[in-house]
Amino acid sequence: MNEELERLVELDKKHVWHPFTQAQTAPDPVPIERGEGVVLHTADGRQIIDYISSWWVNLYGHAHPRVSAAIAEQASQLEQVIFAGFTHRPAIRLAEKLAELLPGDLSRVFYSDNGSTAVEVGLKMAYQYWANKGQSQRKRFLTFDGAYHGDTVGAMSAGVSSRMFDAWKELFFTVDVLDYPNTWENDARCEEKEARALKLLDDFLDRHAQETCALIMEPLVQGASGIRMVRPEFVKAVVERLREHGILVIFDEVMTGFGRTGSNFACEKIGVVPDIICLSKGLTAGFLPLSVTVAREEIYREFLGESFDRAFCHGHSFTANPLGCAAALASMELLQSEEVRQSFKRIEKAHDRGLDYLRDLKQTTAHRICGTIGAFDAVVDDGGYTSSLGNDLKRWFWDRNMLLRPLGNVVYQLPPYVITDEQIDLGWKAAAEAMIKLNPPKA
Ligand SMILES: *Cc1c(COP(=O)(O)O)cnc(C)c1O
Repeated sequence: MNEELERLVELDKKHVWHPFTQAQTAPDPVPIERGEGVVLHTADGRQIIDYISSWWVNLYGHAHPRVSAAIAEQASQLEQVIFAGFTHRPAIRLAEKLAELLPGDLSRVFYSDNGSTAVEVGLKMAYQYWANKGQSQRKRFLTFDGAYHGDTVGAMSAGVSSRMFDAWKELFFTVDVLDYPNTWENDARCEEKEARALKLLDDFLDRHAQETCALIMEPLVQGASGIRMVRPEFVKAVVERLREHGILVIFDEVMTGFGRTGSNFACEKIGVVPDIICLSKGLTAGFLPLSVTVAREEIYREFLGESFDRAFCHGHSFTANPLGCAAALASMELLQSEEVRQSFKRIEKAHDRGLDYLRDLKQTTAHRICGTIGAFDAVVDDGGYTSSLGNDLKRWFWDRNMLLRPLGNVVYQLPPYVITDEQIDLGWKAAAEAMIKLNPPKA
């Protein structure tokens, strides 16, 4: 690194507070100069393959010209306007587009800024829906073990079982935590695990169905707690049971949305329509912070009335930011392009071939794929987010110019859709070598 860059990093260390980072022990942050396609260019001239879509937000490669042009054009027209009492073309067009893409009557779009706020909005909507309907005894929220829904207080409450938020646990509202089967391909016990989880759900519903407001879940793939998957059949069975009792279903598709699971949305792949869906990562193709909470029309109607008390009193300074909406519109167009649609299957196949380097290694397990997401677990004594193998693996991939950032002992690829088969292959090959060198099988 040259002197100017070194000074820059020193300044960062002096003034910047980074997320999810223990600054005292972490390596220096890496200045990134630009991105192009699947490659990130570091300021000191390295080219890094981005296997994780930069925290799961990028869809079609970095700095995609169509999206950046849409933002530039919008910026010269209208950058922002208050969204209570006013509206604008990008927000209207995007809402129309999302209603068209989403299944069923998921057609009422509420804008906010990020995944956590999309979740907060969903939880608050569900809660007030029942109050407006005169059923304010419905206060309990159901969640799954290992769920992650974001870092704001309501979202942390819903994600309490991840144990990531123990520092604040006394602030949380109480949630009921369901058993998560956590299955993978060729998992011989998947039906048994699912049956047990459904039995526990049935027991809960026998006792508390009439006090329960909503379930919130990450459908098909739990992200942050370790790319934990279930079969569509399981989610469908859960939703059917809840529907029998009128309990609302909130799908947090902040990560699974926009093609990650091989369909536009996980709910589409499962074949169910949730009452509320939360979308964010990927919405603007990774360009700008924006999110939506989309409700079925029936939910929206419960908020209408003569009195302001029935309205949904929630909003943010930047609700429906026009630049974000313009970026998202361009992103939705790209999502529907033939090239992107074809890439879903292509990437899935490439993961399947690549995981073959790992399937025979005894120190790995739970090889699994859902659409464009591939993962496996390293067998270790201290599994989980803080597994000591995690940092060694991060460094291993970094030394090979790969942004491939395991969640503890869970190694995964969640790439932009422009990644090539060869790049996917390289990633899994490097992972197999890492297992042989860094995590040899226990005797
Ligand atoms: C990332 C994530 C969130 C939180 O989104 P932010 O934009 O980081 O606030 C919520 N739910 C899921 C499933 C996520 O993956």
